[in-house]
Amino acid sequence: MQKIIFATSNQDKMREIRAILSDFPVEIVSMKEAGIHVDIIENGATFEENAVIKAETIEKATGAIVLADDSGLEIDYLNKEPGIYSARYMGEDTSYHVKNMNLIQRLEGVPDEKRTARFVCAVAAAFPDSETVTVRGTIEGRIGYQEEGNNGFGYDPIFYLPEYGCTTASLSSEQKNAISHRGKALQMIKTVIGRYLTEHGDNK
Ligand code: IMP
Repeated sequence: MQKIIFATSNQDKMREIRAILSDFPVEIVSMKEAGIHVDIIENGATFEENAVIKAETIEKATGAIVLADDSGLEIDYLNKEPGIYSARYMGEDTSYHVKNMNLIQRLEGVPDEKRTARFVCAVAAAFPDSETVTVRGTIEGRIGYQEEGNNGFGYDPIFYLPEYGCTTASLSSEQKNAISHRGKALQMIKTVIGRYLTEHGDNK
């Protein structure tokens, strides 16, 4: 069976991609499950570049099909900060409560219509015998005035969805996956992988 490595150690992401690709005859494994321990320097200037760096590094080391993602929050009023530095913003070890309160503070006095923001997720698929493909999923929202909701992670408690009247931290994971940047990008990469398997045969 064709093996696909997803370059993440995040179990939630693994579950999501396994569910999305469940109708393909492929085995999805994490880097850990594939026994790969490589330090990757994410020094790209965009989400796409970082996803490609991760996917191609592992693809070259293994010869397998490799998926990798890179995601983050862009706040328009802050010139798209924290952007590709979302995980590293204020330091990797700083709690998201502190990061979220800091962003709210930086938007003090900024009216609703200027609090626009989006989550972005780029996914790269690196293939041993064809070009790497990238896709991008986004979800538009606004930065709230306080933290709200107990689900999700990271910046979810301050990412307000006007059409739902709540933050992404108030949605169930099923609701969030159906509309999220990551959910959309993974659905798009499903089409890319489907096309590859059809063209190259899926019985390797
Ligand atoms: P990574 O792509 O897993 O490295 O995630 C980058 C960072 O972006 C995360 O650590 C979070 O800070 C932020 N982020 C990405 N997606 C989400 C999301 O769905 N909710 C909240 N924060 C997110």
